[in-house]
Amino acid sequence: DAYVEAIERANPALNAYVAVTPDKARDMAKASDARLANGEGGALEGIPLGIKDLFATEGVHTQACSHVLDGFKPRYESTVTANLWADGAVMLGKLNMDEFAMGSSNETSYYGPVVNPWRAAGSNADLVPGGSSGGSASAVSAFLCAGATATDTGGSIRQPAAFTGTVGIKPTYGRCSRWGIAAFASSLDQAGPIARDVRDAAILLKSMASVDPKDTTSVDRPVPDYEAALGRSLKGMKVGIPREYRVDGMPEEIEALWQKGIAWLRDAGAEIVDISLPHTKYALPAYYIVAPAEASSNLARYDGVRYGLRVPGKDIVEMYENTRASGFGQEVKRRIMIGTYVLSAGYYDAYYLQAQKVRTLIKRDFETVFDAGVDIILTPATPSAAFGVADQEMAADPVKMYLNDIFTVTVNMAGLPGIAVPAGLDGRGLPLGLQLIGKPFEEETLFQAGHVIE
Ligand code: GLN
Repeated sequence: DAYVEAIERANPALNAYVAVTPDKARDMAKASDARLANGEGGALEGIPLGIKDLFATEGVHTQACSHVLDGFKPRYESTVTANLWADGAVMLGKLNMDEFAMGSSNETSYYGPVVNPWRAAGSNADLVPGGSSGGSASAVSAFLCAGATATDTGGSIRQPAAFTGTVGIKPTYGRCSRWGIAAFASSLDQAGPIARDVRDAAILLKSMASVDPKDTTSVDRPVPDYEAALGRSLKGMKVGIPREYRVDGMPEEIEALWQKGIAWLRDAGAEIVDISLPHTKYALPAYYIVAPAEASSNLARYDGVRYGLRVPGKDIVEMYENTRASGFGQEVKRRIMIGTYVLSAGYYDAYYLQAQKVRTLIKRDFETVFDAGVDIILTPATPSAAFGVADQEMAADPVKMYLNDIFTVTVNMAGLPGIAVPAGLDGRGLPLGLQLIGKPFEEETLFQAGHVIE
């Protein structure tokens, strides 16, 4: 009841929820009370969560915040949310996001922008919460849920977490099932939690992760007790500092934050080493070929026949055209056009194939440093703190918006786990985050070191 009231009060200004499910929440909470009274119950009994609108929730609004999915209520539940409910969690509603998870500011949603609960000192201007999981980050930061599900294709868990002073982890590719999550770029997409602290993130990920016969890319490995990693000593841990992440024009306060993070880990017993990830500078351009290519293919299914919106035409082809023309927003159309272009017969070798080769080189960069004994890599999470809603520069130049992902996309390209943890405030009093990158399936190390930084 407290969370439902908090949502009613704060959501009109924040726009973090696109659907609230108070009746369902109360029913689930009652069932949870009954289980606890019987001495039964799972790890998340009664914990109220918000769910990103990308996750299919049975009988409940699921539209990836796109007009093209108008009215779609799936008859099935995503594996990740099913895992959470099986452990006793309670659903408060569906969270706003960039349309089909494409964006870094949560301004491409059909339901309008999400507002960050944080304000710069002495200013009342609305700031973005980051994207695409902006609703998840804003809701967790404003206490409108105890934790939230999110997804990350190029940074969409970690960048919004950094912008809102919350913790977000993108686990290793394959750790969580992608079944029932609307696909953006299938080889990069992963689900993970956004939470108030590292411990909550560890508890939520434990519940979300599973192998799933319905997603053949999910991996059959035991899910460790992540919470147990908190408080373990960092003695002997080798932390790599990649020199290529010192990008041109990086604000001094980001560099200063990075230095602080290095000092905290060193004080906790870790050994700090300089490393090189030479192909870093190609990651962003390669990502913006691979991700739109996969998106253009995945989004072909929204044609007015199977789901949601249908805009009639004189024949079936015109119906497809009308539905897609009015159903998709500008950013989604841009991605479909880029993706279709780079996959087309004449350009496939020049763009898509090249980008896939670059992706392999990026992956090898990481393998080389891990093979040399590095356990974990520390970088800034974002090149700046949260920026204003309707930022003129970003609106005029989509590439400026894409630069937000400069520190996060490499992790998706290599399939590695990455966590963003709040590490301090900038000169205007806005949260900044640091990112830790781990070896495949070594999320425990991220929680262990992240707990030292938060
Ligand atoms: N901002 C990136 C993009 O727009 C990443 C999005 C994501 O991780 N879902 O592609």
